[in-house]
Amino acid sequence: DMARREQLGIAFYNSNMEQTHLKRLQLLADLKKTLAQNDGQLQMYFQPKVLASTQEHFRFEALIRWIHPEQGFIPPDLFIPLAEQAGLIANITDWVVEAVITQIAEWKSNQFTAQVAINLSAKDLSRKHLLENIKQLLDDYSLPSDSLAFEITESEIMRDAKEAIDLLIRFRSFGFDLAIDDFGTGYSSLSHLKHMPVTELKIDKSFVLQLDQLADDQIIVKSTIELAHSFNLKVVAEGVENQASMDLLREWGCDWLQGFYLSRPLPAKDVLPWVENFAKPDQAANN
Ligand code: C2E
Ligand code: MG
Ligand code: MG
Ligand code: MG
Repeated sequence: DMARREQLGIAFYNSNMEQTHLKRLQLLADLKKTLAQNDGQLQMYFQPKVLASTQEHFRFEALIRWIHPEQGFIPPDLFIPLAEQAGLIANITDWVVEAVITQIAEWKSNQFTAQVAINLSAKDLSRKHLLENIKQLLDDYSLPSDSLAFEITESEIMRDAKEAIDLLIRFRSFGFDLAIDDFGTGYSSLSHLKHMPVTELKIDKSFVLQLDQLADDQIIVKSTIELAHSFNLKVVAEGVENQASMDLLREWGCDWLQGFYLSRPLPAKDVLPWVENFAKPDQAANN
C-alpha cells in the first residue's frame, strides 16, 4: 500500500544518501592523502588556445587530472566542488601553481615560451598571500608575470561583485592577465562588465559546441564578441569542435580558439610535439 511504499521509498532514499555521503568522504580522504604524498595521482594537463588570426601563436589552459588507483579518472567537475566545500581548494591551487610554474620553467629551458592560465575558485580570491606567493615562485624561476594568467568563473565573481573587483585589481597590479571563465552561464548584468578589471572573456562552451548548427547560439556568440571588444577585452571561445564553428568565430573576430577540434588537453610531454605538428599548415586540421 501507499504508506508502506512511501516508507520503503524513504528508507531507500536515506541509505542512498548515506552511501553518497560515505563515497564523498572517502574521496575527500583519498584526495587529502594524494595531495600530501604527491604520489603522481594528480597530473597537470594543458589545452592549447590558438590565436585565431594567424594560428601561429599558442597559449595554454592548465587543467587538473586525478587518476585514482581504484576508480580511475575522476573528472575535476566532480572533485573540485568537493574540495571547495571541504576547505581543500587552497591545497589544490597551491599544487597546481607549483606544477604549472615548474612546467613553464622546464619549457623555457627548452626555448619554448607560452602563457599558461590557471583556474581559480572563489575561495582562492580571499586568500591573503596567494598573489605574493605566486609572484615569489615566479621570481625563484626568473619568470615574468605574464607567464601566467588566471581564469575565474562569472558566477564566482558575481557572488560578491564589489569585493571581487578589488581583488581582481590586485591581480592586475601584479601584472597577471585575467579572464572571466564560462561567460554567459552566470547571471551577471552586462553593466558589471564595464567595472571588471579583466583582460579577457571566455565564452562558455555551451554556446560554442554546436555553433555551426544553432542560429540562437550564433546570435549570442557574435554579439558577445562585439560587446567584449567594445570594452577592449580579448575573447576566447572554448568548446570549438569543428571547422564550421571555427570559421564563424574567425569571421566574427574572436581572438583565441580553444576546443577539441584544435586539441584536447595534453599531458605536458605531448605539448611540444603538438606545437611542432600544428605549425605545419597542411596538418593543422588533423589534431
Ligand atoms: P573550465 O575552466 O571551463 O575548462 C574547460 C573545460 O572544457 C575543460 O574540462 C576542457 O577539457 C573542456 N573542453 C575544452 N574544449 C572542449 C571541447 O571542444 N568540447 C568539450 N566537450 N569540452 C571541451 P575539464 O578539464 O573536465 O575541466 C572542467 C572544469 O573543472 C573546468 O572548467 C574548471 O572549472 C575545473 N578545473 C579544471 N582544472 C582545474 C584546476 O586546476 N583548478 C580549479 N580550481 N578548477 C579546475
Ligand atoms: Mg577555465
Ligand atoms: Mg570555461
Ligand atoms: Mg567551467
